[in-house]
Amino acid sequence: GIPQVAIVGRPNVGKSSLLNWLAGRRISVVDNNPGITRDRIVYLMEHDDRFFELVDTGGMGHIDTDNLTDDIENQITQAIDVASLIVFVVDTRSGVLPLDQEVARRLRYLKTPILCVANKTDDETFDAAAEEFFRLGHGRPIKVSTLQNRNRSVLLNRILAQL
Ligand code: GDP
Ligand code: MG
Repeated sequence: GIPQVAIVGRPNVGKSSLLNWLAGRRISVVDNNPGITRDRIVYLMEHDDRFFELVDTGGMGHIDTDNLTDDIENQITQAIDVASLIVFVVDTRSGVLPLDQEVARRLRYLKTPILCVANKTDDETFDAAAEEFFRLGHGRPIKVSTLQNRNRSVLLNRILAQL
């Protein structure tokens, strides 16, 4: 079948923005409030004559701040069931937060390949800050900005190289 790429990360890092940016369309709801994505969003991507499905599972069901761990648990359970690759999204502007470490820990023993993507790396002045996510143990972060359209094809090529 068509390989699935699951987008995973704590609320507000830009998972839905990333899906929309890669899709080139507004598919998934973007909001300042964590947990706005209510359903699992699947989008069929084509790049370089190859196909894969992007899956945004963030914030499934009703989320409140006491239930962030459940939210992440849901995302990861969904992801390991179906994904050929996990895109682990983090936020360069916030830096490493405890919830990022929790996600990283939860992903550590999976057999599924993982790409760490440092979103909100809006320009070169943030590049050094993005490198901080290396210590989460999922490789060198790929620096992107959905807002500034930075490194879209770099990310797509890295995704395809892993599928
Ligand atoms: P999600 O909860 O992980 O799905 O995050 P969203 O996609 O809903 O985005 C959360 C917030 O981050 C929104 O206010 C977005 O506008 C903002 N955002 C997303 N990508 C970027 C980016 O590349 N740079 C900046 N500065 N903000 C971004
Ligand atoms: Mg979302």
